[in-house]
Amino acid sequence: MYQHKHVSGETIALPLGKIVCIGRNYLDHIQELNNAVPDEALLFLKPATAAVAVDDGVSLPDSNLGACHNELEVAVLIERPLTKASPDACMASIWGYGLGLDLTLRDVQDSLKAKGQPWERAKAFDGSCPLTAFVPASQIAAPETLTFSLKVNGELRQNGNTNMMMRPLGELLAEISQVFTLLPGDVVLTGTPKGVGPLQNGDKLSMTLGNLIATESLVK
Ligand code: ZN
Repeated sequence: MYQHKHVSGETIALPLGKIVCIGRNYLDHIQELNNAVPDEALLFLKPATAAVAVDDGVSLPDSNLGACHNELEVAVLIERPLTKASPDACMASIWGYGLGLDLTLRDVQDSLKAKGQPWERAKAFDGSCPLTAFVPASQIAAPETLTFSLKVNGELRQNGNTNMMMRPLGELLAEISQVFTLLPGDVVLTGTPKGVGPLQNGDKLSMTLGNLIATESLVK
């Protein structure tokens, strides 16, 4: 059973309820998939059963379902309830920051999009959200300029900076809190920069968040 972890290795005493995700928050990724720029945040959810510790390895769904893509995203761990909250209140309610993989069955998603159906089959399956440990917000001076990266088998695939978000973090959380109450322990994935692509069994993943997190995982 997944439990939030502090980068020190200790368990964080906050239960994971849900994971709220945003699609299309980085212009370079919108362009790589030829998507339209959304007027309001494109939100979707992953259930708590999607979460796994990334250190335990990344499991891909059945290969009959087609390509499963990496989307490395900054993950925000919520500490206090947020309902219709202001950007400042949202920023003050963040426990800390980590990384999440929004694993996406791209072929399934393309077919769901074509039919106008929701994306859960492509994005909310068991294990679809590997998460790193979290760094307390007090240790991050400038969350609005955090760099993050993903290497696959030593090759740089994604290289993002939170300053490239189309919706800055406080505004994004405030917009989410208009729709979904965020509860202590919930996680928000803040969108992927470009560089999504298929993962294969045996791939070695190396992920960094600034100089705060550097972790490896194996696709199996
Ligand atoms: Zn994503």
